[in-house]
Amino acid sequence: MTWKVNSGSSSLWWDNWTGWGALAMVISHNDINKFQLAKDLIVDGSWNIAHLQLPEYLAKTILSLAIGDQNKPHFPIWMPTTNGKFTTSSKMLKNKNKLPFDNNISRYGIEVDTKCCCCTEAKDETIHHTFLDGELARKMWNYFGIPLGIPWKPGTIKTLIIKWWTVKPKNALYKDMLKTIPIIIWWKIWKARCVNRYDKTKVSKSRSIYQAFHHIKWIISKTMSTTQWIWKWQDLSKKIINSSHKIECIIVRWIKPPMGWTKLNTDGRHSNNDSIGAGGIIRDSNGQIIMSYAKNLAKGSSNIGEAKAIIYGLQWCTSQSLQNIILESDSLIIINMVKGKSKIAWQLQDSIDIIKEMLDETTNIVIEKRIKLRMHWPNGA
Ligand SMILES: [Zn+2]
Repeated sequence: MTWKVNSGSSSLWWDNWTGWGALAMVISHNDINKFQLAKDLIVDGSWNIAHLQLPEYLAKTILSLAIGDQNKPHFPIWMPTTNGKFTTSSKMLKNKNKLPFDNNISRYGIEVDTKCCCCTEAKDETIHHTFLDGELARKMWNYFGIPLGIPWKPGTIKTLIIKWWTVKPKNALYKDMLKTIPIIIWWKIWKARCVNRYDKTKVSKSRSIYQAFHHIKWIISKTMSTTQWIWKWQDLSKKIINSSHKIECIIVRWIKPPMGWTKLNTDGRHSNNDSIGAGGIIRDSNGQIIMSYAKNLAKGSSNIGEAKAIIYGLQWCTSQSLQNIILESDSLIIINMVKGKSKIAWQLQDSIDIIKEMLDETTNIVIEKRIKLRMHWPNGA
């Protein structure tokens, strides 16, 4: 992982620009403003952090960060995830020794309280204790696991996660939840631990469970509309186990561009062995094909394939001096990055920059219709 603070354009509270996770999740502060940037802490080329009352290890980390060229964007890259975004799971699974547990912090020569915050009678704080064996951890694993047939058992974090991730789910939602719930449980345990440790406020076990339940409900509400009235995990878990897919059919058709316009449809391909391809069709307002292309590319992600398909098509249009181009891509991820609606993944930065430059010169973008699958509860369940 590399950290270079240039203009500090990362979110002060929500980006992992220090390497310790999002500040909002690591420390408790009364005045968390989502618009504040890391650069707000730089005054006259130096870090100004006294007002934040940070724990010593965090303050030391920030003060040691070099302040780079203020005219360039701050570009932190978190290598273990493919999109370069920091995630708790990747941090826990791939770099667990960097979590600021007492035993890890003490390696930096900083004196810390080495007792846990999760048990009635405090124990030594380790990653294993906090996330698996502590009273809060056991309570959460049992609360969410028992209705799914996965009670807590002594073991390692690895055996626990294997248990959750090897259950044979009967539907896609159940499958997703088996993958997601452990991450949410860890996250809530970590939050409770940090509030306890740095804010000296005790978070009750039932509050952590309540927060995790609402987080799960919020995720499910993205695909289901009938979770509002469900207030108990026992009820929601039954719905998850028994949910079924209902596929809605909608007519999808290609629409000709208006007179004087050209339409470019692009698509990227990704195969099992990580090789990618890019293709596209360029048609005029009569629907006549002007040009089509299909290219094999080196290995990469499907998003890179989608981006390259757009670049190749737009470059060809530009080379032919075509001025009015409607670009249709089925990759909402790429379209949103190009339109500035979502953060650009670091691997895609160069490709998105090229697309943006070409769009500035000539084109409009139309987002192609996407078929959505909606989850429905079974009748009478
Ligand atoms: Zn404990």
